[in-house]
Amino acid sequence: MYQQPSSQLASQTISKRAIADLLIWLGRTQWQENYNAHDLVIEVWAAGIWVKQAGLISYRTLAQWLKTLAQLKAYHLSVHKKGDRLYLVQGSQQPWYAVVNRGEHYSCECMLYRCRYNRVKKEMPKLYQSLEQQIFCHHTEAARMIA
Ligand SMILES: [Zn+2]
Repeated sequence: MYQQPSSQLASQTISKRAIADLLIWLGRTQWQENYNAHDLVIEVWAAGIWVKQAGLISYRTLAQWLKTLAQLKAYHLSVHKKGDRLYLVQGSQQPWYAVVNRGEHYSCECMLYRCRYNRVKKEMPKLYQSLEQQIFCHHTEAARMIA
């Protein structure tokens, strides 16, 4: 079997709920006639994310979905520019997260960003390529919007 990501990364990126939402976003809803989100069987393959009940999802599609989700969430967040490169972005686990513009990319101190930053390249290299080697979260996208 192809290398599977850690449970931490899987739960942040390809959870059953997240993949169900992605399939619905794509209009691929036939599986809902016989299954619920929690029934989905999901495996990471070289060619993409394979869902037993709904077929293959390409890494490019998953990458577009993750970006779209981050941007949708970002619209609702307050952002304060605190310096040339520093932003404070409204959070849920804690009131504010520090986001730093590092030129090539933006970084964030939240769990989601750190999980992706530490794990995607190593554990889901095909996804990392499809993300154009850019790690992000909804906080970095919110900072980018006012930059
Ligand atoms: Zn973040």
